Amino acid sequence: MTSQTPATTPASTDDDATTGPTNTTELATIVELCKRRGIIFPTAEIYGGVRATWDYGPLGVELKENVKRQWWRTMVQLRDDVVGMEQAILGPSQVWEASGHLANFSDPLVECANCNNRFREDHLREEQFGDERGEGTLSCPNCGQQKFGDARNFNLMFKTHSGPLADDNSVVWMRPETAQGMFVDFTTVQRASRKKPPFGIAQQGKSFRNEITPGNFIFRTREFEQMEMEFFVEPGTDEDWHQYWIDERMAWYADLGIRPENLRIREHLDDELSHYAKRTVDVEYFFADSSLGWNELEGIANRTDFDLNAHSEASGTDLSYYDQANEERWTPYVIEPAAGATRATLAFLIDAYTVEEVPDAKGNLQARTVLKLDPRLAPYKVAVLPLSKKDELRPTAREVFDLLKVEWMADYDETQSIGRRYRRHDEIGTPFCVTVDFDTIDDRAVTVRDRDTMEQDRVAIDDLVAYLAARLPR
Ligand code: ATP
Repeated sequence: MTSQTPATTPASTDDDATTGPTNTTELATIVELCKRRGIIFPTAEIYGGVRATWDYGPLGVELKENVKRQWWRTMVQLRDDVVGMEQAILGPSQVWEASGHLANFSDPLVECANCNNRFREDHLREEQFGDERGEGTLSCPNCGQQKFGDARNFNLMFKTHSGPLADDNSVVWMRPETAQGMFVDFTTVQRASRKKPPFGIAQQGKSFRNEITPGNFIFRTREFEQMEMEFFVEPGTDEDWHQYWIDERMAWYADLGIRPENLRIREHLDDELSHYAKRTVDVEYFFADSSLGWNELEGIANRTDFDLNAHSEASGTDLSYYDQANEERWTPYVIEPAAGATRATLAFLIDAYTVEEVPDAKGNLQARTVLKLDPRLAPYKVAVLPLSKKDELRPTAREVFDLLKVEWMADYDETQSIGRRYRRHDEIGTPFCVTVDFDTIDDRAVTVRDRDTMEQDRVAIDDLVAYLAARLPR
């Protein structure tokens, strides 16, 4: 077999973790900001909400879509060896039988005989004994009693019926991960895209898991979004490709602004490996809340040929690959970087949250809250702020807004004092504010304020798009 191994492997950022994490922002601070600024808030709140279910408002949907867009840009657009696809959310039982999800996709559930609250046994053991397999008698976090019955396996898949008849033949499942789409459609996509291993298929979208204990804001929800890529390689080259993707994925988070000391790689121990995995590592982020601490953002697994073989066998359709150059047929091994789009959005929000002291006009120190999001992730790239609401400024301010809105997500905001508007845009992470003042009408120039340095430049309206384009990477 000819083997194509990864060309370059960027330096691993593993060592940075030794300096210790620096994140100190608690989830509650982010939850409050998200609610107040309409970024993310409880669903159906007027009816009391639904546990651990969240809606994304005007800014939240921009932020989350930007996270997804950056992932797609890095994983698909900038490469010639990865293509995209989108699978239906509802799927037949056969897919989930073959993948092992119907039999194995379960968590151990324990119920307190005193207060009837239910918990994940492995999470309680981790919290109470420092290890998810730790021995000892568990105490109920709700009532404190030690009256748990035996754990039972609870399948996390959401089941529903397709069509008017709710019988066994109409059962369909809401996908608990996006990955299976790339296995089931492997041959169709491979042939249509004329790709040869090593190559990947990427997908983003909603997944659904009936989690026993959802919580910690959007960290763990029953409906969430994933960004997954299955990279098909020749057996024997899988270990090198696995390391390549671990390094690539760490670099992605760091490039988009997560401080390297708050990121680390955690190797799965042999006894925690999934049934299909040869090696798995997690990319972890340091959450300041003690209930989360270092926790998973993304799993990167070497899934071997398990899934393609399982679907070949169950469907009767051969999903192996014919290697024309060597006149050989083999089943590719699969390297899978599997990230959470919603969970990553949370990590980007937390890591960007900054409170700093800056002098006001009188020289007194004031606290300034700034969301130092990478400009590529910021919901608005630029805000146009007429200095006053007076009619004479409006035509020019609207002209500037019209100029910018075709290039970037821009906000037009003329209410409240200019200071308050700057603070609002600092707090939602807008990289640039453009102020239109009374001089603008004569000199056709505006003041551009930088979110991070608060420095101001006077820029001609004619040069404004070029000025911002030079400072707003795609
Ligand atoms: P966990 O151990 O946190 O339950 P997992 O190992 O089961 O996660 P994977 O199946 O590897 O997760 O899914 C890949 C990614 O999808 C995770 O790293 C995470 O970012 C995201 N994810 C998984 N479950 C959820 C959830 N319930 N809510 C939000 N994101 C999730």
